[in-house]
Amino acid sequence: MLLEIKDLKLHIEENEEELARAISRRLRIDARSIEGYRILKKSIDARKKDIYFVYNAAVELADSKSCKRLINHKDILEYEEFQYALPDFGEEKLEGRPVIIGAGPSGLFAALILAESGFRPLILERGADVDSRTKDIQSLMSHVAFSERSNIQFGEGGAGTFSDGKLTTRIKDSRIKLVLRRFVDFGAPEEILYEYKPHIGTDILKAVIKNMRKYIEALGGEFRFNHLVDEILIKDDEAVGIHAAGAGSIISNAIIGAIGHSARDTYEMLFGKGLSMESKPIAIGVRIEHLQEMIDRAQYGSLAGHPRLGAADYMLTHRSESTGRSAYTFCMCPGGYVVPAASEKGRLVTNGMSYHNRAGQNANSAVVVSVHPEDFGDCHPLAGISFQRRWEGKAYDLGGGGYIAPVQLVGDFLQDRPSKAFGAVKPTYRPGVEMAELKNCLPDFVAAALKDAITGFDKKLKSFAHPEGILTAIETRTSSPVRLVRKPGMESENLKNFYPAGEGAGYAGGIMSSAVDGIKAAEAVIKRFRSPGKDE
Ligand code: FAD
Repeated sequence: MLLEIKDLKLHIEENEEELARAISRRLRIDARSIEGYRILKKSIDARKKDIYFVYNAAVELADSKSCKRLINHKDILEYEEFQYALPDFGEEKLEGRPVIIGAGPSGLFAALILAESGFRPLILERGADVDSRTKDIQSLMSHVAFSERSNIQFGEGGAGTFSDGKLTTRIKDSRIKLVLRRFVDFGAPEEILYEYKPHIGTDILKAVIKNMRKYIEALGGEFRFNHLVDEILIKDDEAVGIHAAGAGSIISNAIIGAIGHSARDTYEMLFGKGLSMESKPIAIGVRIEHLQEMIDRAQYGSLAGHPRLGAADYMLTHRSESTGRSAYTFCMCPGGYVVPAASEKGRLVTNGMSYHNRAGQNANSAVVVSVHPEDFGDCHPLAGISFQRRWEGKAYDLGGGGYIAPVQLVGDFLQDRPSKAFGAVKPTYRPGVEMAELKNCLPDFVAAALKDAITGFDKKLKSFAHPEGILTAIETRTSSPVRLVRKPGMESENLKNFYPAGEGAGYAGGIMSSAVDGIKAAEAVIKRFRSPGKDE
C-alpha cells in the first residue's frame, strides 16, 4: 500500500533531497522506515517574500502494515496508482479501417488508442510531416514563401507543435494522467508528470510527436501526410467514407474528424453536407511582449533569476467596465517568441511559442477580449469564420503585406498615437514587423477593452503596462468559432459514423483537453465495433 502525503513544503534554498526528511517529519517516523517515494505534484508558493516549493508525494514504507494507522484523511491518504483500462469491444462490424482526419493532439491520441486496441487506423493529414513542416515554417519566417498546406496550424502534431507545449487544462478527467504518461513514454521530460504547470517546448515536442507516429505505425497504423480530406461520402444519411486528394475514396464507417479550429474549407465542406453545427463565442486581440526579466521581477521580487525558478509566467483576467467585455491573457509563453500562425493567404495571425528552456529574452502572451456570436454580424453557423477572416485581412494589410505584422508600443496604444521607435523590448515576430496603429485592425470594442485590460493588469502585475512593451496584431485563433454538434457517445448529432473530436469540434481547447477528447472518440469506436481479431 502507498500513502499520499500532501502539502510538503521546502524552502527555495533547500535541496529536493530534503523531501525524505520532510516526509518522515510529517509521518513522525524514522527516515530509514521510508522504502521509497515519488513526487506526485510540485507547485510553487511565491505569495510572500520567501518562496517555497509545495509537494505531494507517494510514499512506500518498509513496514506496510503501519501505513493504515498513519492515514488521517486530510493530508495523509491512501494512494492508488492510476490505471487506464480500454473499454470492451462492441458487436458491430467495422467496414474498412477507422479513418482519422487530422494528426493534431486529438487525432494522434485517438490513433494511439485505436492502434493499441488492434485496429489499424488510417490518419490523413493535410499538412506535412514534422520535419518538412519545420522547413516550411522557416521559409515563411525568412520571407521566402508561405504555404497554405503546411504551416503553424497544419501538419503533423497539429496546431500546438510549434508552441510552448503547455500542458495545463481546466478539465477534470482521469485520462489527463494517461496523456501525460504517454508523452513521457515518447520522450517528454519526466517532470511533466508532477509539475503544477507542466510544459514541453517546441524542440522536445517535435521529437515526441515523431516517436508517437513511429509507434502507431509499428502497431499497423498508417499516416498519409499532404492528404486533404475534401469530402465526407454519405449514403442514406450515414457517413460511409471519405475522399482525399491523392488517395481517392476510402470506405469506413468509423470516421473521426479531428480537424482543429482552422480548417475553414473543411467546415465549409461539412456545412455543405448538412452536418449539424452552430457558431460559438471566441476571443480576439493582440500578443503582448515584455522583457522576461521584468516579469520575473514582478512575480519573484529579489529572487528573480534564481536557478530553481525558471522564467515566470502569469494569467490575468479583467472585466472592462466601458465595454462590458471580459478580457484575459492567454497562452502565455515565458522566454518565448511571437510566431506567424496564419493558414490562409493574405491574412495575418499571431501566436506564441517557446523552447523547453524558455531562455528567450521576451515573455509573450495573447491579450484577448471575448466576442459573442451576436458580434459576428450574421447568424450563419460559419459567421465566426467570416468575422475572423475580416480582421485577419485588415491586420495583413496594416502590416503592408508579406506576413509582416503590425506592431505598436503599449504606451502609444494606450495614448492613441503612432509609435516611432522600439525601446528596451525588441519584437521577436518573424518575418518582420511594421509600426502601425493597431486600432485600425481591431473592432472598436476590442481596442477599447484592451486598453482597459492592459491598464487593469498593471495593477495586478507590476509594469504590465510598461510603455516600451510591444503589441503585435492580430490574435484570432484562440478557439474554434464553430461547434460540430455531437450527441452523447461522441457521434455527430445528425451524421452517423462521423465522430467530431478535439478543438475543431468545439468541445475542447488546448493540447490536453483535445488529446483527451481524441481518446474519448477512440473509446466510442472501440465500444461500438467488434474486436479486429474477430473479423480476420
Ligand atoms: P489541431 O492541433 O489543430 O490539429 C488538427 C489537424 O487536422 C491539423 O494538423 C490539420 O492540418 C488537420 N486537418 C484539418 N482539416 C483537415 C482535412 N480536411 N484533411 C486532413 N487534415 C486536416 N495549447 C496548449 O494547450 N498549450 C500551448 O502551449 C499551446 N500553444 C499553442 C501555440 C500555437 C502557435 C498554436 C497555434 C496553438 C497552441 N495551442 C496550445 C493550442 C493547441 O495547439 C490546440 O488546442 C490543439 O492543437 C488542438 O488539437 P486538435 O488535435 O483538436 O487540433
